[in-house]
Parts: sequence; C-alpha cells; structure tokens
Amino acid sequence: MSVLSCRGLRKEFSGHVVLDGLDLDVAEHEVVALIGASGSGKSTLLRCVNLLEEIDDGTIHLDGEHITDPRVNPDRVRQRIGIVFQSYNLFPHMTVLDNVTLAPRRVHRRERAAAEAQARELLARVGLAEKAGAYPDRLSGGQQQRVAIVRALVNSPRLMLLDEVTSALDPELVGEVLTMIRDLKAQGMTMVLATHEMGFARQVADRVCFLDGGKVIEQGPPEQVFATPTHPRTRQFLHRII
Ligand code: ADP
Ligand code: MG
Repeated sequence: MSVLSCRGLRKEFSGHVVLDGLDLDVAEHEVVALIGASGSGKSTLLRCVNLLEEIDDGTIHLDGEHITDPRVNPDRVRQRIGIVFQSYNLFPHMTVLDNVTLAPRRVHRRERAAAEAQARELLARVGLAEKAGAYPDRLSGGQQQRVAIVRALVNSPRLMLLDEVTSALDPELVGEVLTMIRDLKAQGMTMVLATHEMGFARQVADRVCFLDGGKVIEQGPPEQVFATPTHPRTRQFLHRII
C-alpha cells in the first residue's frame, strides 16, 4: 500500500487551473522528486497534501486513510506529515530548542520535558546539540535549515514534504542539508521533495516526476528521466535548465 496516494487532484486559484487531474503515488521508503517549470504547481501540490490548501476535486490518501474527507481533522493529519519550506521560518525570538518543540508542545500538549528530550536527541543526531540554546540569528543558513528539518521530524512523521529546501542557501551550505536528507533516506523516511536543482534530484530521488499542465506527464528513475526523457515537454524543460 502507498504511503501517499493522490488521485485526480484539481486545484485552481480564481479560475487559474494549477493542478488538473494530477495522480501521484509514493511507496513506503520512497523518495520522489517533483520537477517542473516555475509555476507548474510543485509547491501547491505539497501544500494540498499537507492540507494547507483545499483541493477542488480528487482525493488524497495517507496510509490508506482518506485525508481530504471534509470530516477529517487537518491538525491530526499534519501531525503525521513533516513539511519544510525554502525559507526556514524559524521564530527569531525563540531558541533552537523552543523552535523545535513548539509544535509538539502545542499540538500534542505533551509534557515539555518529553518533547525537549526528543528534540535534543534529534539535534544531537545532526550535530546541532550545542546549538539548542542559541537563537536562529547565531546560526548559518544551513544550520537553520537543518533545525527546520528537525522541527518537522519531532512528530515522527510518516511522510516528509520538502519544498526547495536548499534554494535559499549559499552554495557552500547546501551540502550539509543534502547530507541530512540523504541520512533521512538511509533511515527509510518516505519523502516528496520539490526542487529546481536537478543535481539534488539525481542524488537523492528514487523517482523523478515532471509536472506540466497540472499533471505528472513523465516519471521514472532520475538516470532515465534525465538521460532519455520521452515527452517533448520534458526534453524542452531539461534542455532549458541543464
Ligand atoms: P511551483 O512551486 O511549481 O513554482 P506554485 O505551486 O508555487 O508553483 O504555483 C503554481 C501557480 O499557482 C502559479 O501560477 C502561482 O502563481 C499560483 N498560486 C500559488 N499559490 C497561489 C495562491 N495562494 N493564490 C493565487 N495563486 C497562487
Ligand atoms: Mg515552489
């Protein structure tokens, strides 16, 4: 059974159709990279999966549960999905530890101590233990993004959604975030990531999906899609950016 299954997703913004009957399945432990021109709907798709946007038609299932059923509580779904954006969105007035434990404390109403223990363990695992008490502005962009990823991991999500997580970073800081994502993959995390960096997609993805006209029009292993794209639109896109 798929961890994520999207069927016939349709999403429009005031008449502008962004997703137009999109299908996507993601298996457990699979890493899927979404590629496509700017404005092709990669971010919109991730936001729909996390129920940050309401879809106009279609269905989304997470672990077999129909999460776009209007009776479903979105907060409960979001606890099972970690999402990380291009801009790390850390609260500047809060320490790293408080940033990381904010969601579990709020959503789960768990004991603060338990949330902090888990957060410290996760921070230690990515070499940020000594930064727990620091404020975000004392951290490099790469460290801030790693903290944002840790924050998305505290609920032990079933699925991680990563939206252009290396795009805002200076080139020399991209590597440490990539390493963290590769480690997550090695641990078996199921992930969907949107990226315009084909090198990144090639390195971490099991499968690349090319979005065009609101649908996935071509997909396959990165080596296949990048080396021998079959759809003219994919060829055109790759030709333009590589
Ligand atoms: P991508 O991430 O592939 O660059 P997006 O999903 O961000 O694409 O955007 C797809 C299209 O949807 C764009 O034309 C964008 O302007 C539009 N769009 C995205 N979010 C909104 C919104 N909240 N309101 C109106 N239009 C939006
Ligand atoms: Mg985007």
